[in-house]
Amino acid sequence: MAEFSLTLNEDQQQIRDWVHQFAADVVRPAGHEWDEREEFPWPIVEEAAKIGLYSFDFFAQASMGDPTGLTLPITLEELFWGDAGIGLAIFGSGLAAAGIAGTGTPEQVVEWAPQCFGSGPDDIKLGAYCVSEPDAGSDVSSLKTKAVYDEAKDEWVLNGTKAWATNGGIADIHVVTATVDPTLGSRGQASFIVPKGTPGISQGQKYQKHGIRASHTAEVVLDDCRIPGRMLLGGKEKLDEKLAKAREGQRTGAKQPAMATFESTRPSVASMAIGIARAAYEEALAYAKERVAFGKPIIENQAIAFMLADMITEIDAARLLVWRAAWLARNGGYTNAEGSQSKLKAGRVAVWVTERAIQIHGGYGYTREYPVERMHRDAKIYDIFEGTEQIQQLVIARAISGLRIE
Ligand SMILES: Cc1cc2nc3c(=O)[nH]c(=O)nc-3n(C[C@H](O)[C@H](O)[C@H](O)COP(=O)(O)OP(=O)(O)OC[C@H]3O[C@@H](n4cnc5c(N)ncnc54)[C@H](O)[C@@H]3O)c2cc1C
Repeated sequence: MAEFSLTLNEDQQQIRDWVHQFAADVVRPAGHEWDEREEFPWPIVEEAAKIGLYSFDFFAQASMGDPTGLTLPITLEELFWGDAGIGLAIFGSGLAAAGIAGTGTPEQVVEWAPQCFGSGPDDIKLGAYCVSEPDAGSDVSSLKTKAVYDEAKDEWVLNGTKAWATNGGIADIHVVTATVDPTLGSRGQASFIVPKGTPGISQGQKYQKHGIRASHTAEVVLDDCRIPGRMLLGGKEKLDEKLAKAREGQRTGAKQPAMATFESTRPSVASMAIGIARAAYEEALAYAKERVAFGKPIIENQAIAFMLADMITEIDAARLLVWRAAWLARNGGYTNAEGSQSKLKAGRVAVWVTERAIQIHGGYGYTREYPVERMHRDAKIYDIFEGTEQIQQLVIARAISGLRIE
């Protein structure tokens, strides 16, 4: 077990500084342009691939290869400090890779997880993790996308529509969660790998969003989409065993695949929100020192200085929750609620801090001339995806009470 320490080791300090440099030199200056274009920022992802930041090796090292659990949150905070839309374009594939790592066999992980990133700037590949549906977001137990096994051909046939998939339709690897036995709710579900070019998978509508507009979000339509039997994550034997136990009414102990992935990724998602909040706070602090009203810099008013004092205190409190959850997730003490607590707090802090940053900028903060307006729009998604505010509260409430709170 790694020691919990607030002092980053040498590797972590180097990674933090390296990512910060990239975020400051490449990501932040491009944030406004790609937000306005509402397009996937291929050239910036290419730049990230050139330095090795967009790569399976780095993702694996930062997530699975770090005994403290802190490297990935540190990386994400710096990158999203640069810009959240571009940050998600660079790290959206990580969710698909985490889904494969969470439920795949070791052979499947080795074969498919690297393909969510490709092999370098000339071979950029993307991953998409498709769980949500138009009628099933928070309620993942009621997915309607069906997976039917065709025994004669040893193939799975997928039918349904996935909603809100980050990189949906443009990804090279879609990880799709579908129901095999709808009578079993979440225990009747499994996840599948659908590579690009498979007949029957296509992009539906691309969403026009409030924020993180450089990140591509779209529906994914599966129409008699046939994939080989070996694309079932975890394998058929394990699935049959799980279904049999569920039918007998026993608990399998195995978590529903999508929930298992979300649990382990929550502190990382929370750290993205902290990156946005810190960026907005820094902008507001600098502006408050410069902006003169009534003959003095506005920061010399307690009303403004105290707002900034509260902002940094909230950010630091949220980061401590994130680091605790990230460390526990790697070191076996994770009871689920810590991850949800960190995500709940970080999302709220990001929304609140970015809103206060606009307040400190006055009218200018309400325009697209200053980045705090974009940061505020970007922050809101952290109250919504990977479990809404209310779903985090539900998870925490169930953990602390031991009761089935509805
Ligand atoms: C930009 C973006 C990117 C996304 N990326 C992905 C992705 O890559 N892959 C993926 O699978 N999904 C993705 N999602 C989907 C996201 O996870 C869902 O939108 C989210 O889980 C909420 O689901 P919903 O939108 O259906 O809202 P609903 O579940 O319909 O919720 C509506 C409201 O009701 C509340 N609510 C629901 N149930 C309860 C309850 N039991 N108690 C109290 N309140 C409740 C919610 O908190 C919310 O306020 C993305 C969404 C967005 C917007």
